[in-house]
Amino acid sequence: MKKRILTYFIYVIAAAIGSTTVLLTVLTYNMFEKRVIEDLSVNARVFSALIEKEGEERVLSALDDGLRVTLVHADGAVYFDSAANPAEMGNHANRPEIRQALEEGEGRYVRTSETVDRSTFYYAVRMENGDALRVAEEASSIWSIYIRALPLILLIMLLMMALSVYAASVLTRRLIEPIEQMTAHLDHMEGVARYPELEPFMGMIKKQHEEILKSADMRVEFTANVSHELKTPLTSISGYAELIESGMATGEQATRFAGEIHKSANRLLALINDIIRLSQMDSPAQELAMETVDLAQIAANVVEQLRLSAQKMEVSLELDARTAFVQADRRMMEELLYNLCDNAIRYNVRGGAVHVTVHPARERAIVTVQDTGIGISKENQAHVFERFYRVDKSRSKATGGTGLGLAIVKHIAAKHGADIEMDSELGRGTRISVSFERTGRG
Ligand code: ADP
Repeated sequence: MKKRILTYFIYVIAAAIGSTTVLLTVLTYNMFEKRVIEDLSVNARVFSALIEKEGEERVLSALDDGLRVTLVHADGAVYFDSAANPAEMGNHANRPEIRQALEEGEGRYVRTSETVDRSTFYYAVRMENGDALRVAEEASSIWSIYIRALPLILLIMLLMMALSVYAASVLTRRLIEPIEQMTAHLDHMEGVARYPELEPFMGMIKKQHEEILKSADMRVEFTANVSHELKTPLTSISGYAELIESGMATGEQATRFAGEIHKSANRLLALINDIIRLSQMDSPAQELAMETVDLAQIAANVVEQLRLSAQKMEVSLELDARTAFVQADRRMMEELLYNLCDNAIRYNVRGGAVHVTVHPARERAIVTVQDTGIGISKENQAHVFERFYRVDKSRSKATGGTGLGLAIVKHIAAKHGADIEMDSELGRGTRISVSFERTGRG
C-alpha cells in the first residue's frame, strides 16, 4: 500500500511539473513573440516616416543592432536592404508578410530557420508611395529556449521529485500508521490515534475477532464436555462388563448388570446422535432442505411417535393443531417438536398432561408445547438452552436425556428465524412456544 501510494504520488508530481513547465514556456514565448512584433511594428512606422521624409539612406544610420530593413516595390522587387545586396535578392512579392502588407497595409510573419534554433520575425507596412517596408529581427526560437532551459528544468524537476517523494513517504507513513496501530491494538483501541471513518470497519473486525475467540472457547468447552459425558457411560459399561467377566456376577445379578450395560450403551448412542446433529448444524456448509411444510401434520406425527412413552409415564398427550404452512427443513421441524414433546413427557408427573397446539396467528405460525410437569426455576430458565445443561442430572439421565435437546431446539429455531418463548413455574409446569414466519399454501 505504501509503495502504491508513493508511486502514485510520483506520477502525479511528474505530470504536474512537466505540464506546468511546458505551459509556462509556451506562455512566456507567446508574450515574447508579441513583444518582438510590437517592437518591430513601432520600428516599421518610425522608419517609414523617416524614409518618406529623408530617403532610405538615412535609415542606415538609425538602425539598431540586429534590426534589418528591406524596401520592396509594389511588384515585389527589392530595391533597398540594410544587410544584403538588393540585386541578389529575389522577388519578394510572395513573401507572406509583404503580400499581406501590400494588400492590407501591414503584415507579419515568423520564419524558423532550418537549424530550428533561431527564428526571424518579420513586420511589414505599406508606405504612402505604395512600396512596402519590412523590418526583421532574429531571435531564439521556442525550441532553442527549451533546449537551453532543459538542464535547469530537469534539475528543478529532480529537486521537486526528491522533495515530493520525501513528503509522500512521510504522508503515507502518517496515513498508515494509525491503521497499523488500530490493527495491533484491536482489543483496546481507546487512546490509539485513529480515523473515525474506519471505526465501523474496525468495530466489525473487532466483533468478528471476539466471535472467533468466543466460538473457539465454546468449542474447547464443548469438546471437554463431550469427553466427560462419553466417559461416564463408558466407565459404567467397562465396570459392569468386568464384573461379569470375572465371574463375580452370577445369575440374576449378571442379567441386571447386562441391563445396565445396555442402558449405558443406549445413552452413548443417544449422546453421539445429538452431538453429530449439533455439529452438523454448526457447520456453515450445511444446507437447509427448505420446503413448504404443514406444522400441524408434523406435530401429529411426533405425537404418535411419543404416545407410547407418554403412556409409560402415565401422562396424557393431547394435540390441538390447525394447518399452518411454513418454509422449513422437515427433518429439523420434526426434531424440534420431538425434543419439546419428549421433555414435556419426561419432566412431568404421574397423571400429568401434555398439550401440543399448532395455530396460525397473523403472519406467524405458533407451536406450543405445554405440560403440567415439574417446571423450571427462574435461575435455571436462563440456562436450559445451553449445551449439556441439566437442572436435575440424575432425572435427565434416568429418562434418557443428553442435555442437548433444548440446545438443538434453539439451534433449529435460529436457523429458521423463529422466536422461542418460555414460561415456566416450579411445580406447576412449563410452556414453550416457537413462532415461525408463515407462508401461504405454496
Ligand atoms: P435433557 O436431554 O437433559 O432433557 P434438554 O436440553 O432437553 O436436555 O433440557 C435441558 C434441561 O432443561 C433438562 O435437563 C431439564 O432439567 C430441563 N427441562 C427441559 N424441558 C423441561 C420441561 N418441559 N419441564 C421441566 N424441565 C425441563
